[in-house]
Amino acid sequence: MWRPWTKTPSRIHDTTSQFSCSSFKDIQNLCTEDPVPTTNILTKKPSIFHRAPRPQPDTSSFDANKNLPQPQDLEPLQPPKISIPGAEKRIVVYFTSLRVVRSTFEDCKSVRSILRAFRVQVDERDLSMDSSFVNELQVILGVGQGKLTLPRVFIGGRYIGGAEEIRQLHETGELKMFVEGLPTADIGACDVCGGYSFLLCNDCDGSHKMYTEKAGGFKSCTVCNENGLIRCPSCSFPPFSTV
Ligand SMILES: [Zn+2]
Ligand SMILES: [Zn+2]
Repeated sequence: MWRPWTKTPSRIHDTTSQFSCSSFKDIQNLCTEDPVPTTNILTKKPSIFHRAPRPQPDTSSFDANKNLPQPQDLEPLQPPKISIPGAEKRIVVYFTSLRVVRSTFEDCKSVRSILRAFRVQVDERDLSMDSSFVNELQVILGVGQGKLTLPRVFIGGRYIGGAEEIRQLHETGELKMFVEGLPTADIGACDVCGGYSFLLCNDCDGSHKMYTEKAGGFKSCTVCNENGLIRCPSCSFPPFSTV
């Protein structure tokens, strides 16, 4: 019973030796053919190893990172985007003092009175007094002129919303929480401008035109805005850098 077992291994050895010979032949054949391909393989292998494992997961992970957080972060990133750097310590209200649209005028009036009651510094920017406020607000909100609705309120540099948002926040008491962080300020009509935030231009007497003999006629006053007004140096805030 043991003999055939011992015999078979010997046969197997023979066969294996034969196989090994054949395999060696294959290797020899490969080796003879190798010189050209091995260099290619050798040069390819490291390049593949370097390229495949490193950049592929990197690019995929970068793509994943780029694709995944972008839509997710878009929503939380939007509020900070609509903000005014440099206006962190006050309320900024873009409004109009014109009665062209009654509802808008009433909204602006009520929002201003709500905000003034908190006795913090309110930076009121009347779009009807200075067209540069229109451009400023357009850039800040990233909307076209046709889509601008007034009033627009920023508290602590953060965009809050319009009349509806302010009324709702005021009714729920949340508005007070927004304003609480701001430093208190003495509110009262400015002695210099009477609370209008603007003064009549001295250079052109409010005409926004200046006669120059050199030009042989009138030219626009470079000191004031299109309404012949200059911002009150005592109470008005500088324009925001909306670059
Ligand atoms: Zn002027
Ligand atoms: Zn003033």
